[in-house]
Amino acid sequence: ESTRVVPYRVVGAFRSGKVPLGLKRKGLRIVVTGGAGFVGSHLVDRLIERGDSVIVVDNFFTGRKENVMHHFGNPRFEMIRHDVVEPILLEVDQIYHLACPASPVHYKHNPVKTIISFTNVVGTLNMLGLAKRVGARFLLTSTSEVYGDPLEHPQKETYWGNVNPIGVRSCYDEGKRTAETLAMDYHRGAGVEVRIARIFNTYGPRMCIDDGRVVSNFVAQALRKEPMTVYGDGKQTRSFQYVSDLVDGLMRLMEGEHVGPFNLGNPGEFTMLELAKVPISLYAARIPVVQETIDPNAKIEFRPNTEDDPHKRKPDISRAKDLLGWEPKIPLHRGLPMMVSDFRQRIFGDQKGGDS
Ligand code: NAD
Ligand code: UDP
Ligand code: UDP
Repeated sequence: ESTRVVPYRVVGAFRSGKVPLGLKRKGLRIVVTGGAGFVGSHLVDRLIERGDSVIVVDNFFTGRKENVMHHFGNPRFEMIRHDVVEPILLEVDQIYHLACPASPVHYKHNPVKTIISFTNVVGTLNMLGLAKRVGARFLLTSTSEVYGDPLEHPQKETYWGNVNPIGVRSCYDEGKRTAETLAMDYHRGAGVEVRIARIFNTYGPRMCIDDGRVVSNFVAQALRKEPMTVYGDGKQTRSFQYVSDLVDGLMRLMEGEHVGPFNLGNPGEFTMLELAKVPISLYAARIPVVQETIDPNAKIEFRPNTEDDPHKRKPDISRAKDLLGWEPKIPLHRGLPMMVSDFRQRIFGDQKGGDS
């Protein structure tokens, strides 16, 4: 119950989606920072489809114009090249704050570590300042990384986490923890309506091909007929969520009445070795779409693991189920083929790819 907030100040009925019968829903003005990225671009698609006006704010650090190009020319879509560490003035109803270098490749690159911390802290502060000034509702995309290498399994939102504050990943983990702190301080201190999502590993079409995350690595490697690189002994676990489920959860959270934080993830838990074998076992099961797309003879190659790698991760999603009426619908064996066909097209530029 601690997640309940005071009722809306502005156009509550419209913003909550509880539009009185017979009334047409008024389109909202929504900012999506990081909207040219993987998750952001899927969110933008849904908001535009719903009839809202969307302003994407992105510096194209990892995002791509191609992800949102299909909205160019739509009067309800606008794209601003802007770094969120600089202040910005906009008039909007809602802010989805996704801008953040989120790829593990960036942890290792020294100067960029500063950029990650800086984006999380100063970028989030600016967007909260904007939300405060215009009375907009603010949603933060935090991460399961706030739980660190968790000592509680599965992880509930009440768990405070086990994060190394001085490790190679802490620019990301601690950056997001600080962003959560800022959001709660603006909520308590300035009355900003905030929403906090803790996102667990998410995959799908439009993911960066070479950003080093495990699903994108395995799929790209399998398509290129390279061995799949398993780090460490491959027994560490993660829980993988398909992007449309996440976007659905983010929108429910934004429209709902609860601050959170909410875990948004798919509780299906896999070891990295199992993940590497998913396409192969699917092939063996003769599921047609996968048969078309993945090499059944893909090989596995072991590599040293990265520092401070969490041993296991799995969301407890009871809170989102109870309070948002949300749960993921797409299991890995259905989501993966959709990602594979997108990657195949982007890597080879055609449907058949590599085989011809
Ligand atoms: P992504 O890299 O595809 O998207 C991030 C976007 O933010 C990119 O378009 C990038 O150009 C933009 N960006 C980065 N720094 C910026 C800045 N300073 N100013 C303006 N734009 C900036 O990553 P994603 O997977 O779509 O992640 C979106 C959000 O979700 C991030 O906040 C990430 O931390 C969070 N998240 C993602 C996952 C996941 O598995 N994908 C898991 C947990 C949390
Ligand atoms: N900010 C912004 N756009 C706005 C309002 C504020 O980018 O429309 C930035 C502002 O530059 C500041 C931050 O958000 O750096 C925090 O703003 P707030 O008003 O909370 O703090 P203050 O400016 O009083 O320090
Ligand atoms: N991983 C792997 N092979 C790869 C990339 C990653 O085995 O090519 C492992 C990595 O060590 C970690 C897990 O997969 O244990 C998930 O890594 P990712 O970077 O995708 O996400 P995160 O660690 O942030 O959950």
